[in-house]
Amino acid sequence: MVKMYRETCQICGCQITRKKGVYATDTIEGRSHATKHHYVAERFFGRSIFKNMKDPWGLEGQKEVFCYECHEELLHNPVLTPKDIQRFAELVERTGLNEKKKTSSKAKIAGRINLLHEVIKKGLEALA
Ligand SMILES: [Zn+2]
Repeated sequence: MVKMYRETCQICGCQITRKKGVYATDTIEGRSHATKHHYVAERFFGRSIFKNMKDPWGLEGQKEVFCYECHEELLHNPVLTPKDIQRFAELVERTGLNEKKKTSSKAKIAGRINLLHEVIKKGLEALA
């Protein structure tokens, strides 16, 4: 007996849809449509943020399949309240990652990206 492989979203676990013409439509098929997400944005490498430094996570080029909702609506649009931003800005300043004036270096934004990841990691650990 051949077992059917069912592709599922790595966050919500829904069954992934792969069908032309429905991606991002407000239908069950559109909402569950396959989309790939890079763990670390491609634009952070090569010509940009992590250009002159090592990928802190060792995840360059790695991606995973998610449903449209988890990729485009959840991962790309995290809700941050003004209080969340204020608290993060305080962390940024305390860790020396604030900038009075931009320079040619992207080390501070790389540090802030790392810091935000640390905040998410600690939050996940706290809730686990
Ligand atoms: Zn999902």
